[in-house]
Amino acid sequence: MPVSGLGAYDDQNIFARILRGEIPSKKVFEDEFAFAFHDINPQAPVHVLVIPKARFVSLADFSARASQAEIAGFWRAVGAVARDLELEVPGYRILANVGEHAGQEVPHFHVHIFGGRPLGRMLER
Ligand code: AMP
Repeated sequence: MPVSGLGAYDDQNIFARILRGEIPSKKVFEDEFAFAFHDINPQAPVHVLVIPKARFVSLADFSARASQAEIAGFWRAVGAVARDLELEVPGYRILANVGEHAGQEVPHFHVHIFGGRPLGRMLER
């Protein structure tokens, strides 16, 4: 069973449709475990989303159910994407919204990568 307040995985969610090629995306990376593409509504000069290829609703679901290989492969991909985008220097931020309080809109686990300008201190008060 998926572990999430968001319920069972919905195969019609927008990122599932992007993975199947039903909806276009601006791809920046793909391997066995992960797919990365530019966010359609960027919040920074660089705003890329990294998603696992397998069906996980959120980080809660992913951390509970993914295999060691899926977890390692996914997080290596996040680091590789940031490196490929030449964000390591001067730096970048990753963020994952999980559930209602975080405002997670798409129920397929994703990590945001932000960069391209100084990003300030974490959360708005
Ligand atoms: P979250 O609020 O963490 O679930 O973030 C969902 C993100 O997906 C938002 O930043 C949206 O701008 C982005 N998004 C929604 N639809 C698309 C799409 N078709 N292509 C790229 N990014 C998308």
